[in-house]
Amino acid sequence: TVFEYAPAPESRAIVDIAPSYGLFIDGEFADASDGKVFKTVSPSSEEVLSEVAQASTEDVDRAVRAARRAFEAWSALPGSERAKYLFRIARIIQERSRELAVLESLDNGKPIRESRDADLPLVAAHFFYYAGWADKLPYAGFGSNPRPLGVAGQVIPWNFPLLMLAWKIAPALAAGNTVVLKPAETTPLSALFFADICRQAGLPKGVVNIITGDGSTGAALVGHEGIDKVAFTGSTEVGKAIARTVAGTDKKVTLELGGKAANIVFDDAPIDQAVEGIVNGIFFNQGHVCCAGSRLLVQESVADEVLESLKRRMSTLRVGDPLDKNTDIGAINSAEQLARIRELADAGEAEGAERWAPSCELPDSGFWFRPTVFTGVTQAHRIAREEVFGPVLSVLTFRTPAEAVEKANNTPYGLSAGIWTEKGSRILWMADQLRAGIVWANTFNKFDPASPFGGYKESGYGREGGRHGLEAYLASNPKASEK
Ligand code: NAD
Repeated sequence: TVFEYAPAPESRAIVDIAPSYGLFIDGEFADASDGKVFKTVSPSSEEVLSEVAQASTEDVDRAVRAARRAFEAWSALPGSERAKYLFRIARIIQERSRELAVLESLDNGKPIRESRDADLPLVAAHFFYYAGWADKLPYAGFGSNPRPLGVAGQVIPWNFPLLMLAWKIAPALAAGNTVVLKPAETTPLSALFFADICRQAGLPKGVVNIITGDGSTGAALVGHEGIDKVAFTGSTEVGKAIARTVAGTDKKVTLELGGKAANIVFDDAPIDQAVEGIVNGIFFNQGHVCCAGSRLLVQESVADEVLESLKRRMSTLRVGDPLDKNTDIGAINSAEQLARIRELADAGEAEGAERWAPSCELPDSGFWFRPTVFTGVTQAHRIAREEVFGPVLSVLTFRTPAEAVEKANNTPYGLSAGIWTEKGSRILWMADQLRAGIVWANTFNKFDPASPFGGYKESGYGREGGRHGLEAYLASNPKASEK
């Protein structure tokens, strides 16, 4: 059946990376109009993987025009026909998932166990999930004649390159929109492989366009007058700049920005299980996770026990080659990100917090950072307030549930939180009090395409995933659809 995986090894040889890639516009790969290129580097070896076209303003314009031309026919297709394309894309992703997982680990630095067992299954699941919606839109409470918005300009970060692409493209296409997507400059390759998958699936030309480039390319896309919807995932700083760009236009916007989640452990929690949740919460994907549990709030009476157990567990974590199946923590995505993590960790020490990391070996080349925990942290410390976006955990203590809520909410962000306790009533009370878009109970970093994801406050606005994620690509109320 189509669902069988090829038993291929997790080796570099499984993926064939071309020495150069063009932009994917109107169903064809093409050089940038001015011939500019940039290099994408493997963060675990510093090897140049490929040279990629840097889209100019003219290329952005060409991509938006191609998406606009494709929109009429694509949006007029019966939902059941659009669904067939999305199902086909989902199946091809499954068939090519080993290759894509290796590619993602090479370009991003994440451990193969994560790209193979978390990213890729979720990527396919998003396309399956939204394929299932495509023919049900008129009957799903979006109004009798829900219409797509038009052309979506989508800008994504480097931490989950293919998964962020799936979050953006699957609902947009299911709802009948066409897209121009810009991947991050340090991880452009999986989006370009996805372009090839679109061709393999026979997707009509211009429905998906991939333009590679840096922030200037993203800014040109977001500011282009030919797009109807902006979907952005990335830093709060850039998110705010985008909000200013689109203010005063009739473009719809969703922003998925940063976070500083509290992972809250009560004294009745099963300690071993909670420690696994703390480790997964902050060290998954090297901590390059917007919803990472980067602040551990632990009840004072069990703080010593939890910390001792946590340090023991951290000493077993393996840092190194992303393609090794035993690796727990891969490479930091770029030299810039490594510098940012170092700067904040050094600030933690300078401000008086106590730093601890296991004494594991690190490879000679590449960008690496040991899993690190800070104790004696106060709410005034930068490491308690700012997003590190790396494998760095700040530990604070609390005495009462009310104090835990007060500390958890004491952040400009509002994306996610975790609670560890045996008491169901406490979970419900805490979930109600925590100002976060996602609250996990006795688990962390669990994702599902059916469940909406998004934040409050400086973590952005709008939701991706589930029915809400589809709504963001529909002009459902009569006023909006008359525009
Ligand atoms: P970033 O904001 O620098 O870049 C994100 C993307 O925006 C990249 O593709 C980049 O090229 C592009 N970009 C940069 N400047 C731009 C501009 N002026 N206009 C338009 N596009 C521009 O963020 P990053 O360093 O790549 O990613 C890390 C950040 O992303 C973290 O802060 C993290 O919290 C956040 N993030 C949030 C979520 C979420 O769902 N909330 C998910 C993943 C990452």
